[in-house]
Amino acid sequence: METLIPIINRLQEVFLTLGAEIIQLPQIIVVGSQSSGKSSVLESLVGRDFLPRGSGIVTRRPLVLQLVNVPSLEERRKQDNGNGAKQNPQNTYPGIKAEEWGTFLHCKNQIFTDFNEIRKEIEEETDRSTNNKGISPEPIYLKIYSPNVLSLTLVDLPGITKVPVGDQPEDIETQVQEMILSYISNPNSIILCVSPANSDLATSDALKLAREVDADGRRTLLVVSKLDLMDAGTDALEVLLGRVIPVRLGIIGVVNRSQHDLNTQKSLTDSCKDEQAFLQRHYPSLASRCGSRYLARTLSRLLMHHIRDCLPELKTRVTVLTAQYQSRLNSYGQPVEDHSATLLQIVTKFATDYCNTIEGTARHIQTSELCGGARICYIFHETFGRTLQSIDPLGGLTELDILTAIRNATGPRPALFVPEVSFELLVKKQIKRLEEPSMRCVELVHEELQRIIQHCSAYSTQELLRFPKLHDSIVEVVTSLLRKRLPITNEMVHNLVAIELAYINTKHPDFTDAAQVSASVNSQQVLKLSLSVSSRLTLQIQTGLVFVLSSLLQVEAGDGGKRWKNEKMPSEEKGPVPAFGSPTKAVNLLDTAVPISRKLSTREQRDCEVIQRLIKCYFLIVRKSIQDSVPKTVMHFLVNFVKEHLQSELVGQLYKQPLLQELLIESQETAQQRTEVAQMLEALKKASNIISEIRETHLW
Ligand code: GDP
Ligand code: MG
Repeated sequence: METLIPIINRLQEVFLTLGAEIIQLPQIIVVGSQSSGKSSVLESLVGRDFLPRGSGIVTRRPLVLQLVNVPSLEERRKQDNGNGAKQNPQNTYPGIKAEEWGTFLHCKNQIFTDFNEIRKEIEEETDRSTNNKGISPEPIYLKIYSPNVLSLTLVDLPGITKVPVGDQPEDIETQVQEMILSYISNPNSIILCVSPANSDLATSDALKLAREVDADGRRTLLVVSKLDLMDAGTDALEVLLGRVIPVRLGIIGVVNRSQHDLNTQKSLTDSCKDEQAFLQRHYPSLASRCGSRYLARTLSRLLMHHIRDCLPELKTRVTVLTAQYQSRLNSYGQPVEDHSATLLQIVTKFATDYCNTIEGTARHIQTSELCGGARICYIFHETFGRTLQSIDPLGGLTELDILTAIRNATGPRPALFVPEVSFELLVKKQIKRLEEPSMRCVELVHEELQRIIQHCSAYSTQELLRFPKLHDSIVEVVTSLLRKRLPITNEMVHNLVAIELAYINTKHPDFTDAAQVSASVNSQQVLKLSLSVSSRLTLQIQTGLVFVLSSLLQVEAGDGGKRWKNEKMPSEEKGPVPAFGSPTKAVNLLDTAVPISRKLSTREQRDCEVIQRLIKCYFLIVRKSIQDSVPKTVMHFLVNFVKEHLQSELVGQLYKQPLLQELLIESQETAQQRTEVAQMLEALKKASNIISEIRETHLW
């Protein structure tokens, strides 16, 4: 199996770089009846004496033997020295001065360099959990580290036995069988059936068991042991040629050491030589296809086939990983060489991304939520628009407020007309209510512009992640630009409302309708009035806004009045004298807290209605104009301004020679990740080469 070692070792390298689980070489499991020579076959495969062997039941617990290929002692020494006092991560076995050694799972920290000790420990450990020939399914785990082994797992199992001896349970046969089956049913195992030549192959329990789990014999290999012990006059030629029972993977005859050899401590090398001589003598035609060495080679070939089968998948994996790592590496960008160019490029990209996000032309368009320009649109038309729409033009104005305003505006004399001042006063109060939502609109847009910064640095301008300082500075510059524009925009929006408050334009084209309604109500009265009443009324008419002489309405309200308010009028016309004038309330005239429940006189009612109607009409006009002008203002003073000046602001503040170096310091993380990824890529390329080399090599 030596030929496989370098290949596996190179593959191992591939696996190490991939950080993936190693190609699982098949476990080799020896199965056979008691004393058929299983342990002996295993030993000859490993090439060392370390398993307890002998007649009777010797192997009583499964022995899971993991072979681990390690660099030779010399190489390990070199690695250690080369790295001085620093521990070499590649040398995972520091301080072990032996070429080969073994460890047991059950005695963790003990290192066995003497293989006789290993055999003793196996014997003792077997006795510890079983007594007097009893068996136990609990495996003993042994690891053997050596530069001369393949990293693979062999399993030595108790032999198949029929009649219980000693303390063995009645069902010993089934117990052993189940134990064997549990191992050989693993599809990734090679079943090494060991059958002694001096018993009939047709009675082989091992082959029978193997057939149960591997019906078409794709992973069963038959080893015929004890060729030297055949009765005089018989030979195993028929069996070895597969004429008795064919076995797909082959039938290999071997001669292991006899008990006498073991007692006299015959070495494995000697035994191997003698085996060859024996085969040449007795089976000259088959000598080249028998013997322990040929068995080892056959196993190597099987393992190689297995590796070859795994390679395409491995190759794909390497290719996929290479692509992934390459794109990761690309995303980290190249190390900075020209600082000023890099800074300009990143700043420009950020500014472009920022504007694109507002314009809706960004590459990274989110689907989960509104963002950028779309959100600003939403703020204007949904949030702000709806809030304005929901404002009741007469909200917060009770009839009493209106009446009080009328009375306050007339001064000491009782008024003939509803004074215009009171309309102005009241309508301004309502218009003021538009200011707060308008300011809030500015705030929301400002917040969104702030959010776009985050969006851009996270989604669009990936390079920014590399340079945390530059990122922070960009955020700072944009934030301060936004902050600088905020008071200007706020003032402008405040002014929009202030402008509306500054002049109540009762000549507004949309407002004349309302005025005309008022006028038409009183058209008849006005005619009459003009005869008897002072020029004051005429003056009022000339303004286009007729403030109705309330007393007149009360006395002479004709059909015109009914046109606006025909339901309530008749009943209330002759209603009781208003509480205003009632003696009980007279004392409280100056008291502002006039009870709301007070019933209004018809005249008061009508005054209120006139005023309410006018307020409503005028308010709607103003609201419409605010709803239109606030977004325009916000766009002009905030959004568009920032869009236009972002780039120059960023360049102006950041593109300064002394700053460049500092801003473009890569984050430790990125620098490290780039190196790691680059290393991984390098390793993957090597891995890919190794794989193609192995695929092209024909070792079989
Ligand atoms: P296991 O019980 O199947 O593990 O068998 P062992 O490997 O312990 O061998 C049982 C006995 O058979 C030992 O005494 C071995 O020396 C002996 N033995 C095994 N193989 C051969 C062989 O090919 N020729 C001879 N002469 N003896 C063998
Ligand atoms: Mg054994």
